[in-house]
Amino acid sequence: MAERSAYPPSHDDSAVVAVDIGGTTIKGAAFAPHGSVLERATVPTFGPAGSPLEATSGLIAQLDAAIRAGGRRLTGIGVASPGLVDSVRGTVTFAANLGWTDMAIVDLLTERFGVPVALEHDGRAAARAERVARIAAGRDGDEFVFVPIGTGISAAIVTGGVVVTGATGGAGEFGHVPVVPDGELCTCGQRGCVEVYASASAIVRRYRAAGGTLPGGAREITAAASTDPVAASVWADAVDALAVGLTGLAAVLDPSALVIGGGLGEAGDRLLVPLREGVARRLAWRSAPRVEQSLVGAGAGLIGASLLLESPLVPGDTVTPPAPVPVPSKEPS
Ligand SMILES: [Zn+2]
Repeated sequence: MAERSAYPPSHDDSAVVAVDIGGTTIKGAAFAPHGSVLERATVPTFGPAGSPLEATSGLIAQLDAAIRAGGRRLTGIGVASPGLVDSVRGTVTFAANLGWTDMAIVDLLTERFGVPVALEHDGRAAARAERVARIAAGRDGDEFVFVPIGTGISAAIVTGGVVVTGATGGAGEFGHVPVVPDGELCTCGQRGCVEVYASASAIVRRYRAAGGTLPGGAREITAAASTDPVAASVWADAVDALAVGLTGLAAVLDPSALVIGGGLGEAGDRLLVPLREGVARRLAWRSAPRVEQSLVGAGAGLIGASLLLESPLVPGDTVTPPAPVPVPSKEPS
């Protein structure tokens, strides 16, 4: 359910709604013009209707009703989606976890709500939020790779200060880079993908398949890696898969930092320390880029979705509000 925040209304009565569609839940928030969070709500992706589109639309309607009740009006909607996302056409070309093929979500939501709608890949939306936070924190925001690890795994490549989209909107499917030759079968049809070993859902699935008996999810399993041999083995495989994939990214892109986000990214040093070691050990001819934790945290996709409508970044309760810093444009080389 939506919960009311304590922000008083300003003279500007507009608000934007951002939604971040995940495989398990859809997170939503309404943002005031200066980026403060007015309302938050989360719904199951496959709710009573079993339809992610209905769930998304219902969540937006719920937030819209809440901001209207607070005396504001909806002026735009930002949507972050997993899968192959074509921001220009406003279409989710393919999202296996949602059962979507050529989902014209921008047109559908524009028709229903009558306001501008912007769409971005969830990982790329999160990278936009991360970029603003990094610049505000005095870190490099022009050359980094943002890797959110949750139900799935992706990577948003920021180079020259721009988030790379690719020819078909499919850039950044880091989770489906094969890192184990003839490895386990992935939902995408390939074998040995990073995601088969290192996503939160993969960790739980592999732990149970190996006879692990601890209750709970990926967080509990990874936390038990020092005491539970099955957890240790599954976690080691996850870290290895990630390290091999990240080494490839580092070698190809020469980023200043590999930034780990998403729910599992909050494992902190339990993940970052072996990842740093794993990447550094595999790179012989160059130094490894920094491996850092996300500054914005698990809410980055939602904040990034709100930024699609050019709302300034003040990420509510997830990070100290930084003032957006103008970025000097690079001289062409
Ligand atoms: Zn795959």
